[in-house]
Amino acid sequence: MRRVTFSRNFTLSLSRTCQCYCKYCAFATHRAHLYAPDEVEKLLDDASRRGAKELLVLTGEKPEVNAEVAARLADYGHDDFVSYVAWACERALARGMLPHTNVGVCSRNELARLREVTASQGLMLESVNPDLVVHQGSPTKHPAARLDTIRTAGELRIPFTSGILVGIGEAPQERVAALEALAEVHREHGHLQEVILQNFVPHPRYYGAEPAEIADAAQRSEAHGEPAPLPGWATPISLDDMRSLVRECQRLMPDVGIQIPPNLSDWWLPLIEEGATDLGGLSANGDHISPEHPFPSVHRMRKQLQPRGYALTERLCVYPQYMDPEWMEQGVLDVVKLKFWSFIPRRGSGRREERAIRRDLVPAAIARAREGGALTEDELTALFAETRPEAIEDMRQAADELRAELAGDTVTFVVNRNINISNICVVGCAFCGFGQGKRSPDAYEHSEADFRRRVREAVEFGATEICMQSGIHPDWTIADYEHWLRVAKDEAPQLHLHAYSPMEVDAMAGELSLAEVFERLVAAGLGSTPGTAAEVLHDGVRERISPNKLPAGRWVEVIEACHTAGVRSTVTVMFGHIEEPWELAEHMRVVRALQERTGGFTEFVPLSFIPFHTMLGRTHGIEPISREENLKHTAAFRLALGKTIPSLQASWVKMGLEAATEALRWGVNDLGGTLMEESISRMAGSEHGVRLDPEDLIGAAWAAGRPAAERDTLYGIRRRYQLPVAA
Ligand code: SF4
Repeated sequence: MRRVTFSRNFTLSLSRTCQCYCKYCAFATHRAHLYAPDEVEKLLDDASRRGAKELLVLTGEKPEVNAEVAARLADYGHDDFVSYVAWACERALARGMLPHTNVGVCSRNELARLREVTASQGLMLESVNPDLVVHQGSPTKHPAARLDTIRTAGELRIPFTSGILVGIGEAPQERVAALEALAEVHREHGHLQEVILQNFVPHPRYYGAEPAEIADAAQRSEAHGEPAPLPGWATPISLDDMRSLVRECQRLMPDVGIQIPPNLSDWWLPLIEEGATDLGGLSANGDHISPEHPFPSVHRMRKQLQPRGYALTERLCVYPQYMDPEWMEQGVLDVVKLKFWSFIPRRGSGRREERAIRRDLVPAAIARAREGGALTEDELTALFAETRPEAIEDMRQAADELRAELAGDTVTFVVNRNINISNICVVGCAFCGFGQGKRSPDAYEHSEADFRRRVREAVEFGATEICMQSGIHPDWTIADYEHWLRVAKDEAPQLHLHAYSPMEVDAMAGELSLAEVFERLVAAGLGSTPGTAAEVLHDGVRERISPNKLPAGRWVEVIEACHTAGVRSTVTVMFGHIEEPWELAEHMRVVRALQERTGGFTEFVPLSFIPFHTMLGRTHGIEPISREENLKHTAAFRLALGKTIPSLQASWVKMGLEAATEALRWGVNDLGGTLMEESISRMAGSEHGVRLDPEDLIGAAWAAGRPAAERDTLYGIRRRYQLPVAA
């Protein structure tokens, strides 16, 4: 799965008055055009209501060359237009929107003034040909002037967007030369976050009409205008031309985003498949430059992208790598921290709150954890936040030694089948791509016959366990949960039933005590319980990602009752989303204390978050955790558990079998189950498959140089697979 990004923005064409006369432009006017402050305030209120995260300030160039505009600016108390733009940006920031300005060629002083109130800025290079017919009468369209502005922005550390116009009369080799010129500036300053490849589309003239109004109306109705004829100076372009430009961008600027406007051609999809990464700002009020071309709806684009393996996700106008005091003014960064903190990449410490990380504690903490000692919150926090490669290697070694001491060299797995009987759910967790409302077209509920068939297939496959979990179905009572257990037992009495998360147990309990619930479930055939729904056992995190879910204290209560009833359970953690290192530390404290009380956990299962088709991924900017971070966390979990839970599992569904195999060097001794079907991670966008054969898991153990064994749910060994003797 690959992320394709877009920004949810609102366009403010603060002034369309322009000093240039570009022939392709129907946006600019040479009469006086300037929104008054009260009109700006109203538009910003509208933008806020429409949920825009970015304010795109798009203007003509140097509108104050028009005497009437200059007089109005003076009236509003501004010496020049940039001062008025800066005021509008401040008003947007006050409403929690991030400004991105595109006001044409600027001086160093103007760029610097705008830097104080913007998250990013932009200027299209357009072309490197200084003699294009379309640019006659537009001196600032000279490539030297534009490259000068783009370079100065780099010197001022401004996250910047640029791009080229394709089809305005330039020769094909000039397009590549323009990309090379951008690549050179980017090599010098590293400030280009994205390059737009914008194909020229001819427009009608709007003659006194307001493009902003045409755009807004077109966006609301989703109706495209009549195509206009291609002018004589234009160059026809083909999809293949655009494809080769995407490839050139990748070659020249591999670390820069490639943006394709999705409203200007039907090519955006093949160009994404070619390697473009971004669909730009999808303005709630339409495209003011090409107003007769409304943006396709996010929903429609997502539907087209998803089956092809792309997840359409929101970004801010400033790309994550620039969310840093080096690149942004503190006042703007404060808005990101306050409103959009989940978009800030984690760099060792927290995103919402800076806390001192006691790196000095790490060596002694590793040594004590290796001996099984419990770590303090500060020590655990430092392990989860660790970034130094040598310290991470020390963590890996200690975790690996602890694994060898507690679980030996044998890599275990279970032959099982997952059955998610229904995905209907009323809880609505922001990290979940599985749960669906009852009326959703994607909602399902297996029939009893279907369920029986799945159980029979599991038996034929050689499974010893069925794992059953569902959404929180609004109509199910404990009798339904008992029913499914009985049906499974009726079909295959020999199977171990590993069923029902603490959230399901809590939902089915109603007025019953937890002891009664477990008594009834055991009588119906329950063998053990998955310790899912734990997410992070810290109510602050739970409030942020799943406010309707059972609180941490209730999760502990359910599991404690489960263990007291003599039913073993696993325990999980879901990490790599918005949690802070100290919140994971608290999770591990709770888990360890619970295990010390009951001894009922069979294994600890770290589950890295899959963001693609979840609310957290789509709208909160959460990217998948890197393989390196995933492995580091794996080692930290092993060290945090000490000698309390001997088995640490790697989830191949979440991290992929290759990374799970590597995790065998980071404290892991178990590779989980064959699963046969898996809906929860798949529906969140996991691409690691839903089923493995025992041979795959045995092969993974052998690839790590370790023997394998099939186990049952409670870790009884069923069959051993010694390492093959080298030929
Ligand atoms: S995680 Fe579980 S409880 Fe939350 S929405 Fe998904 S299915 Fe429902």
